[in-house]
Amino acid sequence: MADLEQADMTRDLDEYRALEAARERLKSGEYGICIDCGNDIGYERLKAFPSALRCIQCQERHEKTFGGNPRPSL
Ligand SMILES: [Zn+2]
Repeated sequence: MADLEQADMTRDLDEYRALEAARERLKSGEYGICIDCGNDIGYERLKAFPSALRCIQCQERHEKTFGGNPRPSL
């Protein structure tokens, strides 16, 4: 039980950090730009996943390359 709570907290913290990073990118004008290819991430994707750093193509490639990311890609 404690392990489960710990996992939840870690995930929340990760999400919080991702949102903080998104806010920083918004300030610097980089928000919504894919960090890999430099193209627009896309409004629909950002709406569903506001902390997205990559467009869907790069995200899929990243997950294939690094694997093990349980977060569903949108
Ligand atoms: Zn991209």
